[in-house]
Amino acid sequence: MRPILIAGNWKMNGSLQSVIELVEGIKAGNPGKASLAVCPPAIYLMKVGGMLDGSDIALGAQNVCDANAGAYTGEISAPMLKECGCRYAIVGHSERRSLYRETDQLVANRFAMAVASSITPILCVGESLEERENGVTEDIVARQLDAVIEAQGVSVLAQSVIAYEPVWAIGTGKVATPEQAQEVHRFIRQKLARLDEQVAHKIQILYGGSMNASNAGELLAQPDIDGGLIGGASLKAADFLAIGQSV
Ligand code: PEP
Repeated sequence: MRPILIAGNWKMNGSLQSVIELVEGIKAGNPGKASLAVCPPAIYLMKVGGMLDGSDIALGAQNVCDANAGAYTGEISAPMLKECGCRYAIVGHSERRSLYRETDQLVANRFAMAVASSITPILCVGESLEERENGVTEDIVARQLDAVIEAQGVSVLAQSVIAYEPVWAIGTGKVATPEQAQEVHRFIRQKLARLDEQVAHKIQILYGGSMNASNAGELLAQPDIDGGLIGGASLKAADFLAIGQSV
């Protein structure tokens, strides 16, 4: 059994005060058997990192620059994230891919920078509704994975987490059925197994897309689902903790 990771992606939500209250609430609660991580807006990383010092809850960033230093206005480098105490960095979230035109290649470069600073990238992959309806879900997910594998080899994935996030399920309340999610998770693991059995066996593959306390139990019971990347339901401590408790 792989360990279960429940990671909260807070996106661009909250204020300094609400973030402090959220962290306090999560720290005070019971995460069940899951490991927890929170990915606050970058401006609050330092504050949240300090609050999490000494706790088992990991800190994650929502993105990471594809370069280490220099003239990259608005970006934050992996060494900077490391200084804030980040263990994880999300890369290739569908909102970054669609709203900010991040390409597979850029995502692969961001992934590489995270790994080079010993930050575990949470590599998001997933298809749009149109792509699912056209029957190309596996092609899309394979292409997104191959961008990293071709650039850095399959073994680098041992230092990462994958999040399968069907775009049509993110923030829509339309969760993938456990069977739909498991089918893609299995596809990902089998694809990796053809290249490296050990990586495939060990890697945590999270599901993301409208996961909440009422649907998490069934999703997390699937053999290839090793946790969740949670958006909306990570913004309330009780809801987030309840997902961990449903393992
Ligand atoms: C996400 O943004 O990664 C996500 C899964 O969001 P939500 O849980 O709100 O669908």
